[in-house]
Amino acid sequence: MGVTLDLSRAPAKALAPTNLTGLSRTELAEALVAAGVVPKEKAKMRASQLWRWMHHYGVTDFAQMTDVAKETRAALAEAFSLARPEVVERQVSKDGTRKWLIRMGPGIEVETVYIPDVGRAGALCVSSQVGCTLNCTFCHTGTQALVRNLTAAEIVAQVQVARDDLGEWPSPKEDRRLSNIVFMGMGEPLYNLDNVAQAIDIIADNEGIAISRRRITVSTSGVVPMLKELGEKTQAMLAISLHATNDALREKLVPLNKKYPLKELMDGIRAYPGLGNAKRVTFEYVMLKGVNDTPAEAKALVQLLKGIPAKINLIPFNPWPGTDYECSSWSTIEQFAAILNRGGYASPIRTPRGRDILAACGQLKSESEKQRASARRRAEQAAEASE
Ligand code: SAH
Ligand code: SF4
Repeated sequence: MGVTLDLSRAPAKALAPTNLTGLSRTELAEALVAAGVVPKEKAKMRASQLWRWMHHYGVTDFAQMTDVAKETRAALAEAFSLARPEVVERQVSKDGTRKWLIRMGPGIEVETVYIPDVGRAGALCVSSQVGCTLNCTFCHTGTQALVRNLTAAEIVAQVQVARDDLGEWPSPKEDRRLSNIVFMGMGEPLYNLDNVAQAIDIIADNEGIAISRRRITVSTSGVVPMLKELGEKTQAMLAISLHATNDALREKLVPLNKKYPLKELMDGIRAYPGLGNAKRVTFEYVMLKGVNDTPAEAKALVQLLKGIPAKINLIPFNPWPGTDYECSSWSTIEQFAAILNRGGYASPIRTPRGRDILAACGQLKSESEKQRASARRRAEQAAEASE
């Protein structure tokens, strides 16, 4: 007589329990039923209850859910997790900028940066990928190969970690320190749109973290075919990393321009859902000495943006070890800004924040990668020495 082993349960035990904080409301209700913790007819109600605990109160332990029956809490704890990822390093800059290095799993580390006095009160710059597949030549993240996309839970976790540290649970209605979210950390968000969109749904939900979609900005290097979907799925504010006004130069700075040249990009932006004076596109323009910073280029920029409800952010280039680029001089940047102003664009110069802790735009690159690189260099030196 043959014996059939039922192995169907075995792998489930070996895997980490599902973290509930990255699920949509519907997925949450389904997960509760599938695990046999909640009967179907109560699933929606229970999911709402849990949602508030997780996303409004920020609890990390089912035991804190005082209006849920004790046995149900125990069953939840058995089947699921609410745990935060590990914060490997926390740095605070002289200017109040905070940076966390968060370990999502072995070798999966991302950086998240909080910048005070940006947006209404303070902005959190979140990562969407570990590394990036695009190799913009002035960007530190671009020198790191893509490790993988972050899950929705891992994107939401960055907001949770920041709020733990800023003491923002339960979600305050007024006087928030974290009022805005910008997807300007590591990675290209439009290459991970499903997870980015799901994370935005969670972050924007009114019964939770409740950061309005108007205060959430997604920055892209210009993945044109995904722009429409981004607008439709998220209603987020759009930021475009432009950096050049002609194809020849933009190809050098943002190689993705070869695939989606300026004409296509500008047409795609014009079609972005919901665009208008109340919902302007932000154009990011990094100031690179002797590369893209002449008065003629400022005038070309004004021409290029004609007819688009736009804001321009001039970003002083943030240097990182090994780069050949330099930041334009302050007077060059001011001259550039003055031309944009005359052309009708308010063009704030973004003061670099957190430079002392390498937390400024384009400086992000996870510590593990840096350590691996330095270990590699040491190994190479040792090999050379022994030859
Ligand atoms: N991948 C997306 C979002 C992350 S980059 C994008 O490219 O838009 C966030 C912003 O920082 C982009 O505008 C990017 O061009 C800019 N940036 C990258 N490296 C920089 C550097 N070294 N100094 C200043 N800005 C930089
Ligand atoms: Fe990637 Fe954005 Fe850096 Fe370009 S600027 S390499 S798209 S993270």
